[in-house]
This record gives sequence, C-alpha cells and structure tokens, in this order.
Amino acid sequence: MIRTLKSVREMQETAEKLRLEAKRIGFVPTMGYLHEGHLSLVDLVRTKSDVTVMSIFVNPAQFGPHEDLDKYPRDFERDEMLAASRGVDIIFYPTPEMMYPAGYKTWVDVDDLTEVLCGASRPGHFRGVTTVVTKLFNIIKPHCVALGQKDAQQAAVIETMIRDLNVDTEFILGPIVREIDGLAMSSRNVNLLPDERKEAPVLQQTLKEIAKTIKNGHIDIQSLLNAGIQSIESMTSGRVDYLEARCYPSLEPIENISGKLLIALAVYFKNVRLIDNVIVKM
Ligand code: AMP
Repeated sequence: MIRTLKSVREMQETAEKLRLEAKRIGFVPTMGYLHEGHLSLVDLVRTKSDVTVMSIFVNPAQFGPHEDLDKYPRDFERDEMLAASRGVDIIFYPTPEMMYPAGYKTWVDVDDLTEVLCGASRPGHFRGVTTVVTKLFNIIKPHCVALGQKDAQQAAVIETMIRDLNVDTEFILGPIVREIDGLAMSSRNVNLLPDERKEAPVLQQTLKEIAKTIKNGHIDIQSLLNAGIQSIESMTSGRVDYLEARCYPSLEPIENISGKLLIALAVYFKNVRLIDNVIVKM
C-alpha cells in the first residue's frame, strides 16, 4: 500500500527508521501531474533501492512573479494512483507553508551554470530549485535520486550541488521520454492550445537536425542554431527564448567540438514555455 506523508517531521522519522533497518531509499522529486517521464524515473530508482519515495510539490520558490504557478496543472488523486501502480512506496506531499514557514530565510545558490540558458530568462529559478532539493534531501535522506535529462540544466546544477555540498546520495540521470510524435512529455503540455500542440514536435525535429549536422562534421554551430531559430519561428506560432549549444555538464561555451555537447532550447507559446534538448557525444 502506498503511503502519503504530508508532514516534514513524519517523513524525517520514517526515513530515519528505514535507514536504521538498513533499507536503501530511492528518491524521485516531482511537481506532480505525473506522466511517463516521471514514472520512468521511478523505474530507475526502484532498481537501486528498497523503498521508493516520490515528492510532489509545486515549489513556489522556483516560479517568478509573472510565471505559471497558478496555472501549473495539479491532480493529486490521479498522481497517487499512477505512483502506486508503478511501485512508489511513499509520496511526500507537503504544503508550501510547511516547506517555507513564516520567517524562512535560507537559500542555496550554485554559481555560473545557473546564470545561462533558462537561468538567464528565469532569474532566481535555480535558487528555488537547489533550495527545495536540498530541503528534500534533508527530509527524505535518500541513498539515490533520479532526475530527467528533459531538464538538462537542472540536472547539471543539482549534480554540481551534490558534489560541492558533499551530499551523500547517488545521482541518476534518466533519458527524455517523448510522445509518439516526438514532443517531450511535460506536465505543462496540457496548457498548449490545440494548434500549438500540433506544431510542437518541430522543437525536437529541429534539435535532431542540428545534432545530426554537427555529428556529420559541420563546425559552424552558431549558423546552425540561427537557422534553427528561424525554422522554429516560421513553422510554429512560438517565440524562441533561446536555442544554444554548450558543453555538458559544465554548461560552458563550446571551445572545441569534443566531449558531450548540450543543444537546448526554450520556446514561448501563448500560455506555456516549453523546453527540450539533445546531448550529442562527439
Ligand atoms: P517536474 O515535475 O516537471 O518538476 O519533473 C520532475 C522530474 O521528472 C525532473 O527530474 C524532470 O527532469 C523529470 N521529467 C520531466 N519530464 C520528463 C520527460 N519527458 N522525460 C524524462 N524525465 C522527465
């Protein structure tokens, strides 16, 4: 039977008890409105742990004042059913007041790689992410944690934070799970208008095309990216926030084309901003 814990103290006591019983705790942090992308991460941690904990928390601290906190889709009962059917043992489902009580003052910041890509257009976003994930680590005490490549920058930031703060947990990166037409699964996809939903696979097609051209030896990456922006803006009603290539996971600019290259984009549609990426191994 799946258990839902809403209190920090109860979750911490449960985690402590599991550790005393020598159980390995696997952790999947989410904002809920679950889809196959989230559930694939459950499958990954289950292979490495005895007890799987999923957090469901739409974290206000990672949303800017004009972003979609209120529009973010939520359906806890459906999430609980899906999580149970996939083998999650415990859902941690706190309220914002429990995570950020009056007088809350402490923040976790990762330098440099939070300033680029999504960090450039969402100031403060990654500070909200790293802070809540640190809090969740202290509450759930996981032996391993799985994050999705869908949010590649977030994964790089959290992997860096785990290393720099000596967090004693194993980091697992899961591949991007996509709809049949190639659109990366996202809880936010329900906020696309019907016509936008039809156009949205262009995002992945563009990334794949750029990746293939680089693999084939094309070295003028900037001109490929510029052409990519043009084709997305001519084939969809979206506006490109960024389409960039960087080294992964440092997120530094590319100096020579070797190692892992992240090609990432964000596109604004009417009610939703979508992100997607591809990692090319050179
Ligand atoms: P979210 O609920 O959007 O904050 O996502 C929770 C976790 O699921 C993050 O680690 C995401 O990267 C991951 N995730 C979201 N969508 C996908 C996807 N389509 N494929 C793989 N992982 C995903």
